[in-house]
Amino acid sequence: EVKEIGWQFEDSYTTLADKFFTFTNPNPVKSPDWVMINEDLANELGLNINHLKNVEGLRALSGNQIPRGSKPIAQAYAGHQFGYFTILGDGRAILLGEQITPNKSRFDIQLKGAGKTPYSRGGDGRAALGPMLREYLISEAMYGLGIPTTRALAVVTTGEQVMREQALPGAVLTRVASSHLRVGTFQFARQFGTIQELKQLADYAISRHYPHLTELRNKYILFLKEVIENQAKLVAKWDLVGFVHGVMNTDNMTISGETIDYGPCAFIDQYNPSTVFSSIDQHGRYAYNQQKPVAIWNLARLAESLLPILAEDKSHAINQAQSLLKSFSDVYDHAWTVGMKAKLGFFEVTNVEQSFIEEFLNLMNKFQADYTDTFRALTVNDFSRQKWFKSKEFKHWFSKWEQKIAQQTASKEDITRLMRRSNPMIIPRNYLVEDVLEKAVKDGDYEPFTKLHLALKNPYAYSNEQLAYINLPPESDQRYQTFCGT
Ligand code: AMP
Ligand code: MG
Ligand code: MG
Repeated sequence: EVKEIGWQFEDSYTTLADKFFTFTNPNPVKSPDWVMINEDLANELGLNINHLKNVEGLRALSGNQIPRGSKPIAQAYAGHQFGYFTILGDGRAILLGEQITPNKSRFDIQLKGAGKTPYSRGGDGRAALGPMLREYLISEAMYGLGIPTTRALAVVTTGEQVMREQALPGAVLTRVASSHLRVGTFQFARQFGTIQELKQLADYAISRHYPHLTELRNKYILFLKEVIENQAKLVAKWDLVGFVHGVMNTDNMTISGETIDYGPCAFIDQYNPSTVFSSIDQHGRYAYNQQKPVAIWNLARLAESLLPILAEDKSHAINQAQSLLKSFSDVYDHAWTVGMKAKLGFFEVTNVEQSFIEEFLNLMNKFQADYTDTFRALTVNDFSRQKWFKSKEFKHWFSKWEQKIAQQTASKEDITRLMRRSNPMIIPRNYLVEDVLEKAVKDGDYEPFTKLHLALKNPYAYSNEQLAYINLPPESDQRYQTFCGT
């Protein structure tokens, strides 16, 4: 019997000019061990889970052995970090290759925490177990929520320690992405490449993510348009579930429209639009209510980078770019409004005044309502968990809501179905995440982590098992802080 894991690696990225990457092997680790392995994702990738679970799979996903067909690279990129332009690159991530799945999709398989690369600067190239488990849990939760995202195939421990403020157990996360092309990749090309190389990169991104544009005459303009639209839809989805990315630097914004870089992200509990979780985001640049304007700012950096290839005539190119950037707002607003109406039980075609929605958001803000629980309460008609449901203001708004709901031609069942698929019963709440991480990392007890992960697979299921996760957070979570780069 041949024990094949099923790797089918290609390396199309290396057809780009040499300056876009460096061949770099992962650095072996002392004594790797499995922590998490994602069976569903392994199947989707065409990997045989039984063989992957063997020692050969462990060696591959810890960086101790380069799997057949893999030619590992670190990618170069640049980016604006908190507004300042910097040269970056994979400082602790190594791309094993592009896995071609049984249905011919292409996914980057990347080891995060695999050791130093030429782009590591002062860093050690490593990652700690806690943050890698956190990324595993939250990125898979985002997938369950139906939000485009990179995914997590596995977490392995390294048997080594990483030095942060204290010594922490080291780990490697296997990240799966439809690509790692970023706004920052185009900034890098614009800064250091020729026009020819910029075109090559754009053609590559088009062939990978927007292949229907390949033959079109104005393909670069349409490419920019579609990236802008995908990002607008993505950020609307984040906002609708209360997700705060936390570090929307241009290197952390993908060309595919997937969420990437789960460092300081967190979900809001209380509805406070200016929420910031990241300890280093002192001015609130990446606050919850800044995600839309920041996304536009980032996409303006993409547009600038593409300017030389958008049109022959420079002022024409600028005009085109500006009008595309303006369209972000329309796409975002439409996606957000349709999504918010659905959360409130209104079908897309139903006419609901903007002021009615705003009144509701203002009330949630005023009473510091729990965002997820409020929509859950409306969905299942259970107003037992928050005091503000007893307020005059809520009752007044609620009676108007009931009237408007009743005016729809749709059946009650259809409305409930719409609300259930628009309002997650559970999210990876901060206190839940901290709790399962502590038990896993400190006590080596992975059962709570695994159970939460399982419950988050379908946050719209409204199952009995999920009831364990709907409790409101402790008051101390109002000061919840996140940290990146660990
Ligand atoms: P981020 O803020 O997560 O987007 O990371 C910014 C940059 O820092 C990226 O180029 C990372 O590769 C790099 N980086 C983060 N952590 C490390 C580390 N431990 N060692 C080397 N580079 C790192
Ligand atoms: Mg990053
Ligand atoms: Mg990061």
